[in-house]
Amino acid sequence: MIRRVAFLSMHTSPLDLPGSGEAGGMNVYIDELAASLVSRGVEVTVFTRRTDPGQPRVLTTPSGYRVAHVTAGPAVRIPISGLGTLVGEFAKRVTKAIADRRSGATDLVHSHYWLSGWAGLAVKQAVGLPLANSFHTLGRVKDATRRPGQPPEPLLRIAAETEVITFSDCVIASTEYEAVELIEQYGADPSRVCVNPPGVDLERFRPGDRMEARRRLGIDRAPTVLFVGRIQALKGLDVAVEALCTVRDRLPEARLIVVGGPSGPSGEEEHRSIQEMVDRLGLRDAVTWWGVQPHGRLPIFYRGADILVVPSRSESFGLVAAEAQASGLPVVAANVGGLRYVIRDGRSGVLVDGWDPADYGKALLRVLESPAERLHLAAGALEAGRRFGWDRATERLLELYRGVTDGTR
Ligand code: UDP
Repeated sequence: MIRRVAFLSMHTSPLDLPGSGEAGGMNVYIDELAASLVSRGVEVTVFTRRTDPGQPRVLTTPSGYRVAHVTAGPAVRIPISGLGTLVGEFAKRVTKAIADRRSGATDLVHSHYWLSGWAGLAVKQAVGLPLANSFHTLGRVKDATRRPGQPPEPLLRIAAETEVITFSDCVIASTEYEAVELIEQYGADPSRVCVNPPGVDLERFRPGDRMEARRRLGIDRAPTVLFVGRIQALKGLDVAVEALCTVRDRLPEARLIVVGGPSGPSGEEEHRSIQEMVDRLGLRDAVTWWGVQPHGRLPIFYRGADILVVPSRSESFGLVAAEAQASGLPVVAANVGGLRYVIRDGRSGVLVDGWDPADYGKALLRVLESPAERLHLAAGALEAGRRFGWDRATERLLELYRGVTDGTR
């Protein structure tokens, strides 16, 4: 029986607002998974690095899991590139907290992302607890499809990922595709790779009053394309903006709504260059920048738009595509990674090979020009999106945890 789990999330906290900086799908995933485990009687403590001296040592969130702020290095935000040297200190403090715990022993450590996985290995060695790791993204996979001109992932990351894959008890992939990447690109032992797709809050992400949503977003009858995500080269907002030009050749009223903010200094640069692109292409009135939106406000966007576009270079799952579908919104997305699993091509959306904006324009027009096609895909999207409830995801994960702790995994 699993009673107590320690989550490691060194570089970002589930309390951070997703949609900019380092906070995105992983934060949403950790927050909702921890809440779901708590609702099944499991105690969850999320260990994260202290980024502000005012943060309490431990706090309990309204959904009942605990967040422990661990001092490792200066209590300020530090970019990921500067965190490698702090992993040892972070691991040492987490080990001490777990070993000193008086109110019952921890059953398992579940680490998230390569930095925490690396720290998790040290904790596992020190206290002998089983370790499960979710990578969320993989350096080699990102490198394989990165946009020309973008820097490769640091060697340290690739080396640490390899260590974690080799020595953790279980690596949790979000889809079969990620499992294959772990095996083929990192030589993972297939018997220690397990697949468990994330859940989506289906209470929050469900169809609703479309007209009311459009009214709140200030959309009249204009065909509206939605982009939701952090602004960084990986997410391909540049492709979405250029695709809008192709769409507007046939539908001059078409608009693009952008939700999310820049991710780090390179994201700021990307944001500036896309704004310049928007001006250069004469799209200033056709693109609306909503910036970062609280997660709870996202349903209005998914309900009001006509189509979501996800031209990511890589995506291990693609939470926004799953949320949109669960809200009844079809998706045009790159034919990569987890998006191939989340989207049913031709039934809940359209998958596009490569990143040629003209191809995305064509796929968007296929939906925007045909109300019948849009309705067909919207029905398929809802069906595809309803697969991702937390009940199933949490039950499967608990089963997997049990296998790891009793040594059958
Ligand atoms: N998100 C949000 N507010 C925003 C932009 C994004 O709450 O302004 C959320 C979005 O709903 C999704 C997550 O951030 O849950 C992004 O997850 P995804 O897996 O698509 O991308 P990631 O950030 O993990 O690369």
